Amino acid sequence: MKGVIPIMRNFLQRFAYKMSAFMYGRYGTDELSKFLMISALVLMVISWLPNLRLVYFLALAVMIWSLWRSFSRKLYKRRQELDRYLKIKKPIANFFKLQRNKWRDRKTHVYFKCKKCKAVLRVPKGKGSIVVICTRCKDRIEKET
Ligand SMILES: [Zn+2]
Repeated sequence: MKGVIPIMRNFLQRFAYKMSAFMYGRYGTDELSKFLMISALVLMVISWLPNLRLVYFLALAVMIWSLWRSFSRKLYKRRQELDRYLKIKKPIANFFKLQRNKWRDRKTHVYFKCKKCKAVLRVPKGKGSIVVICTRCKDRIEKET
């Protein structure tokens, strides 16, 4: 048993070296490829449901797409894809973050939108009628809290 661990270590080191040599000049993983991988896994689970077996192929396609992006040598194009993905993701992520914060502060704060610039403002609850100055456009808003 004594020789097994060094052999394993040696093997893993060589594997890591070969992997990094293979990935040299290739794009690697980013937020989009991680998102695609997770989506693929979710689709796989969905494909276990009856009558949804075809979803399996979609899951496979998404997985291959994710790997293909990681191995791609066209770094500039992959970065452009990432930018587009982040541009779509940002407002969606912000929406969920706001919902989470609203729920977290439901007892202590009131959230509302500035009518002029649509900025989301947060004021303490139960202070009666107060004047709020919008942090973005400096508009004065009367608010019942
Ligand atoms: Zn405003």
